[in-house]
Amino acid sequence: MKLTRTSTVAAKADKPTLGISRRQFMKNAGVTAGGIAAASFLGTGMMRRAEAKDVPHDAPIEIKRTVCSACAVGCGLYAEVQNGVWTGQEPAFDHPFNQGGHCAKGAALREHGHGEKRVKYPMKLVDGKWKRISWETAIEEVGDQMLKIRQESGPDSLYFMGSAKFSNEGCYMYRKFAAMWGTNNVDHSARICHSTTVAGVANTWGYGAQTNSFNDIQNTKAIFFIGSNPAEAHPVAMQHILLAKERNNAKIIVIDPRFSRTAAHSDLHVNIRPGTDIPFIYGMLWHIFENGWEDKTFIDQRVFAMDEIRKEAAKFPPKEVANICGISEDAIYQTAKMFAENRPGTVVWCMGGTQHHVGNANTRAYCILQLALGNMGKQGGGTNIFRGHDNVQGATDLGLLFDTLPGYYGLTTAAWKHWSHVWDLDFDWVQGRFDSGEYLDRVPMNTPGIPCSRWHDGVLEGKAKLAQRDNIRMAFFWGQSVNTETRQRDVRDALDKMDTVVVVDPAPTMAGVMHRRKNGVYLLPACTQFESRGSLSNSGRSAQWREQVIEPLFESKNDLEIMYLLSKKLGFDKEYTKRMQIDEKGIPLVEDVTREINRGMWTIGMSGQSPERLKEHTMNWGTFSTKTLEAEGGPCKGETYGLPWPCWGTPEQKHPGTQILYNTNRHVLNGGGNFRARYGVEYKGENILANGSYSVGSEIQDGYPEFSDKLLKQLGWWDELTDAEKAEAEGKNWKTDLSGGIHRVAMKHGCIPFGNAKARCIVWTFPDQVPVHREPLYTPRRDLVEKYPTYEDRQVHRLPTLYKSIQQQDMTGKYPLALTSGRLVEYEGGGEESRSNPWLAELQQNMFVEMNPADAADRSIRNGDKVWLEGAEGGRVLVEALVTPRVKQGVTWMPYHFAGVMHGESLEANYPEGTAPYVLGESANTALTYGYDPVTQMQETKASLCQIVKA
Ligand code: SF4
Repeated sequence: MKLTRTSTVAAKADKPTLGISRRQFMKNAGVTAGGIAAASFLGTGMMRRAEAKDVPHDAPIEIKRTVCSACAVGCGLYAEVQNGVWTGQEPAFDHPFNQGGHCAKGAALREHGHGEKRVKYPMKLVDGKWKRISWETAIEEVGDQMLKIRQESGPDSLYFMGSAKFSNEGCYMYRKFAAMWGTNNVDHSARICHSTTVAGVANTWGYGAQTNSFNDIQNTKAIFFIGSNPAEAHPVAMQHILLAKERNNAKIIVIDPRFSRTAAHSDLHVNIRPGTDIPFIYGMLWHIFENGWEDKTFIDQRVFAMDEIRKEAAKFPPKEVANICGISEDAIYQTAKMFAENRPGTVVWCMGGTQHHVGNANTRAYCILQLALGNMGKQGGGTNIFRGHDNVQGATDLGLLFDTLPGYYGLTTAAWKHWSHVWDLDFDWVQGRFDSGEYLDRVPMNTPGIPCSRWHDGVLEGKAKLAQRDNIRMAFFWGQSVNTETRQRDVRDALDKMDTVVVVDPAPTMAGVMHRRKNGVYLLPACTQFESRGSLSNSGRSAQWREQVIEPLFESKNDLEIMYLLSKKLGFDKEYTKRMQIDEKGIPLVEDVTREINRGMWTIGMSGQSPERLKEHTMNWGTFSTKTLEAEGGPCKGETYGLPWPCWGTPEQKHPGTQILYNTNRHVLNGGGNFRARYGVEYKGENILANGSYSVGSEIQDGYPEFSDKLLKQLGWWDELTDAEKAEAEGKNWKTDLSGGIHRVAMKHGCIPFGNAKARCIVWTFPDQVPVHREPLYTPRRDLVEKYPTYEDRQVHRLPTLYKSIQQQDMTGKYPLALTSGRLVEYEGGGEESRSNPWLAELQQNMFVEMNPADAADRSIRNGDKVWLEGAEGGRVLVEALVTPRVKQGVTWMPYHFAGVMHGESLEANYPEGTAPYVLGESANTALTYGYDPVTQMQETKASLCQIVKA
């Protein structure tokens, strides 16, 4: 018997776990057709096909609650399982984020879990052929190779590419694995999506994360999108955006070089030239200051050094900005006026803002705009920084990064001591795992590693120029596809050069197939998110618990199990899992991993997110308000969905989570806050603590520094700690006290553990103290280079990094068109999984470039023609021309999800049999070029040059 959609819904209607039925939902929500409901309608048609497979008939339907794996909105869904087979799915109508909405990717999830294109068993490349091997052989051989390289070149010659697809527990264990191995050469895709956000935003007001939530956008009066296209990248977020428009007449402003699908909903679209965000923001600020639209009280109480911004903005009068950005003077005025007149407004940015060689400065400029208008710490305000992958927020929080340990503790010796304490390990043992030499004056344990944007430079660069003992000789590509990195030809050379390549992933990914090797490549099948359980954090910092839907398919294994097997082979399993139980299947108990995360993550307050609390939230989706995210009743009453961090103190202290960061209108015990005192208490003799501003109920009615044992003693609050808390907290601060006592007592007095300071408009530790406009390395405007030059070439952490030596070459004669890139609704990331999903692949089959009709006509190119696009460093891609006025003359745009074709040649034959995605295409990154943010090493994918000719 084939299960029909009607029968599954009917079967589910009797189950109390479902919350409310679809019919009930439609009735309650008043949703009928079109608009917000459109997302779920798309899903319905697609799911019907997915359910057409044979399933065990008569088997009872078991419902599992899981979360979409395709973006960081975090939509919930009900997976239907019969006899261990995933037979159907429904969007969760009672889920507080998506309320029954799904986009195409969410609707196709079941097929992702079942995907027949997956790697089914471990394999290795032998004389150019894929050979099946056992897991035992794989672990043995991979482990032996690691030990050999460690012996010959040291631990830094291994590279650990991680994943935003891991659960929080997977992220944490992978970062810990790298630490136990003895290297900081570990990173993941946040490096190339929001690392500049993390650096820029954290250095402005404390935390580098989305300040409000998707749901809170319903409360806004204006939404300012810059470099963000949620209609394609975060479709269910549009539910909340369109509700704001319907309910509040919220204005939608879109700043994007391209007329995107989001721009189609806008009140105002301004198509600035790629790479000119900073002058545009200064142009807005020029009008804001000129007209007195700034929030003077807010600035006086809560912002440091706005006068420095006034000085910089004065350099950007309308005429100058119009010239740099390629827009009218009136567009700047209208944008500033509309955003200033409709408060509170929110700023939303994504990779259009972050992926620049000045990315950190871009994100600081956006923050400064919000500070000037007093839009921070407010319902309907904030900076809503939409993340891409389902757990890129968690992966960032858990330090799956080359420059920090979990919780943004950094890499100082104090940070290593904190985590050694959390792990119950002797610091000397941990230190002894690292290379103890000094390279270019840097000590590896305390020096950021090599970023994932440039691991290939770690392979190819001359050894003498590296701040580590030797080149990278072996790399794990664990859940990340390398076609997301620019300079694909160098990526391929690096894959060719290494001793060994190990891909751990449900798919072979490009690291497994784009090289020209005959040997030394391993493919180890990891299971998907739906074959394991654990937590993940959405873009709004809410943690969700995913139930395991099905057992791992084929011979795939859970990430935690693979890491544990390797640790055993390498001889540090006892230290690695010292505080964890190993379950009957040989997997570190995921709940114990979550508890260890709670034990260490005081800085951002993941300390209160216990597995028990998260599971309770997941099982009670329907009790949370879709507007405030607070549970209105039931077992989680008063708590915010997913306990968004900071969820201060221990789980027992029951902090409700913080939906809106820095909100002084609430008590800290009810999610209130203020800007963080992260940079000391004064700068050049000026007090940088808050001035007469504090959160509701604070007994210190002014700014104050971060809490420590000493501050508690000075305030006379020390004796409010228990004896056990005192024993742990002595000599510690709010970040390192594992008892949670410092958090508890500070909050009891209404204070925020991290202190109360002003946000700052200048960052004295960055190359540019205020955001400075610098023309892209490959700029089409040579006339602006002298006035707005890039940086001098410099060493950044372990790698030499080029700036001026590239920019000084004029490439515009050969490459006259600006090149930028972006995301499609059908695919995500490198696209390996989504292009292997037949329901998605059907929707978008060809890689293409968008070009303006005038540019096409000048080249005798018609819509649909095959064209060669050549990037400014010579990378060539053979793609289809999509001739459209969406991009203006002189600008071109490509999606970045494609791979499997390089320089016009298909790589399909390189895939193990039956694993090539349904859709292959050229990677945009073959044509994209050099350019790295000096703080974070973010790659430049949004402002380069190219030429296009008819093929
Ligand atoms: Fe929701 Fe994002 Fe999944 Fe679409 S891709 S269903 S918006 S989580």
